[in-house]
Formats: sequence, structure tokens, C-alpha cells
Amino acid sequence: MRIFFLDQSGKPGGAELCLIDIAKPYSHRALVGLFADGQFKDLLQQNHIPVEVLATQTIQVRKESSLAQGLKSLKQLAPLITKVIKKAREYDLIYANTQKALVVGAFASFFSRRPLVYHLHDILSTEHFSQTNLRIAINLANRCASLVIANSQASKTAFIQAGGRSDIVEVVYNGFDPKIYQTDESDINQLQQLGLQGKFVVGHFSRLAPWKGQHILIDALAKCPPEVTVILVGDALFGEQDYVKQLHQQVADLGLENRVKFLGFRSDIPQLMAACNLVAHTSTSPEPFGRVIVEAMLCGKPVVAAKAGGVMELVEHGLNGFLVAPGEPQELAQVIITCLQETEITATIANNARTTASRRFDVATINQQIAQLLSHRF
Ligand code: UDP
Repeated sequence: MRIFFLDQSGKPGGAELCLIDIAKPYSHRALVGLFADGQFKDLLQQNHIPVEVLATQTIQVRKESSLAQGLKSLKQLAPLITKVIKKAREYDLIYANTQKALVVGAFASFFSRRPLVYHLHDILSTEHFSQTNLRIAINLANRCASLVIANSQASKTAFIQAGGRSDIVEVVYNGFDPKIYQTDESDINQLQQLGLQGKFVVGHFSRLAPWKGQHILIDALAKCPPEVTVILVGDALFGEQDYVKQLHQQVADLGLENRVKFLGFRSDIPQLMAACNLVAHTSTSPEPFGRVIVEAMLCGKPVVAAKAGGVMELVEHGLNGFLVAPGEPQELAQVIITCLQETEITATIANNARTTASRRFDVATINQQIAQLLSHRF
């Protein structure tokens, strides 16, 4: 099957990293069309997946944009849509991986008469999107997509609650190659320059954005014993520079300069996770899936995560991780202290997590599920 994948981002967020795994088995006859240049393109190339940047200027519309802003951007989208329609005729299927890709893909599907698949990596609710954007996404998916792949039950439920058709939506979790997450001592030793020896390291792996809740972890850290140290791995991918400033200010105000390290965007996630004693996920709004949680489990690290959205499909409190109420630093601090003190129970929980995550989220099985869905419908 020849697949034309579309993604709006030049930057490697969770949806983009997931797309690399999905596109790989089709790479000899596929193309990934991007609406922006950037590091994601390099990653696709490194994985030998054909890629082309199709847009020459940034599309201005954002998740929270109004109808007027959206209409203005349609004019801007016209040359891109024309290009995509032309290319789509060389493929059997259009696979839209993001919201703007859905908009462009819907037009292309109509004019090129190629079926459209929409991979939904978001919880479509007003917490994350403007009413206008929500309505556009639901209407286009309902009318133009033959299949919607939701990345969790939570994303599927939100889609249906917002008016999406239940007969076209299927849940497929993100897949991971467990081998990538097996690290050894030498990997960790390479990180010596970070000065983490003898510390209890809590890692947070996410782009820096207010709803990802790094500020909650910093508040929790202030309530923990001095050997607890935090590494914040990730960058402000979508212009959240004010939040980055706020985080630095918060660290300074709490006198935690020596206990919080900002590492920026990194490509050695398994190695960094291996250097952690605990991985924290602190999103203040429901997380659609939460790749970092599964990655930590595969690294054999205990995870504490914010109890909402797709996270509740990944973590069972006390069995394969810990759940805390979103936005509650006191509760988070309590779990950090428990993990610091109860090392044996915590290690058992982390081992359970590794075993079940390797089984549930193996990329080979997940890719089979996608292949089956595509071959049954198209
Ligand atoms: N990630 C990364 N480098 C970083 C920070 C994060 O490669 O510096 C990866 C992380 O390992 C995960 C993804 O980015 O695979 C984030 O996915 P998640 O589902 O957790 O959040 P999203 O970005 O989709 O909201």
C-alpha cells in the first residue's frame, strides 16, 4: 500500500515520534509531507523514510484560533492544498497525523478521490482547542475520514463526546521497540558530567509548556529532602518562552538552583531515564496518551503520573506505577518521598511495569494492528 502521510510540524513532538514508527514499514512506497522544516525531517531521513517539506511559509492558525483567523489561513493554505492534491494521486491513501494535516488532507482526499485516515493524538475538548477548531476537526473527520485512529480510549471518548462518529474510530496505542530502552552502566556513566552521582534523581521528560506542569514538580521538589534533584528534559517547542522564564524564576525564588537542571531537548532519552530514580509526569490537563510514561516503564523506572485522560489506561496505582491528582505538588512530593524510602516495593512496581509495557506496547504488535485496520478498510 502506498501511503501519503501528512504532518504539520517540523518539530519532533510525541505525534511525530509515533509517526516515525508507523511510517517505517511502508517506507519503500510512502512519502511524509511536512508543513514545516526542522528536526523532524532529519529524524525521518535518519530512519530512511522519504520526506518532503511541502509548505514554504508557516501556517498561522493555532489550536486556540478563532473562525476569522482560520478563514484567513485558508487563503494561505491554498498553494499547499494544491500541491498535496497533485501528489496524493500517486498514492493509495492519505494519512493525516495532526489537525492541520486533517484540514489539508480532507481537501486532498475529496479532489484526488483517495481515502483519508486521521490519526488522532489529541483529546478534542475545549481545554486544548477553540470551539471553532473543535468543530472543524469533528466535521472534517466525520465527513471525509474513512478511519480515525485514536491514540487512547480517552481520546476516542472525547472525539465521540464532541460529536465524532463512533463507527469510524478505533483505538491503537503508540508502539515502542523495547530494545531501545535497554541500557547498561556504561550508558549511565557517560552522563557523569551532569553531576547526578549520589542524588535521588527525578526526571521530567516533556516539552516545556504550562499544561505539561513542570512548575508542579518544582513546587513538589521544594517539599522534598535535599538529596532529591530534578532534571527537566525538553524544550519549548511551540513558542512557550514566557513559561520557560517563569520556571527559571520559580527555581530561583525557591532557592533550588542546585537541585534543578534544565537539559533542553535531548535525543538520548533511554540513557537519561536510566540515570533517574523516578520519572514524573505532571500534566495539568488530561494527557491523550503520554509516551514518556511507557518509555520510563520500558526503562524499568518507577513512574508517578497525573491521574487523567489516557494515563489511566497506562498506570494502575501501586501495581505498575503511582497516580496523583493533577496539579497537586503536596501529593506528588509524598510519592517522591515514598519512592526514596521504600526502595524494594518501588523496584518491584517498576519491574512489573517493564514486563507489562513490553507486552502491551510492542511496536511490532501495534504496527500489525494498524496494518490490519488499513487492509480491512481499503
Ligand atoms: N522527548 C524527546 N526529547 C526531549 C523531550 C521529550 O525525544 O527532550 C520525547 C519523549 O521521549 C516522548 C515525546 O517526546 O517520546 C513526547 O511524547 P508525549 O506523548 O509524552 O507528549 P507530547 O509531546 O505528545 O505531548
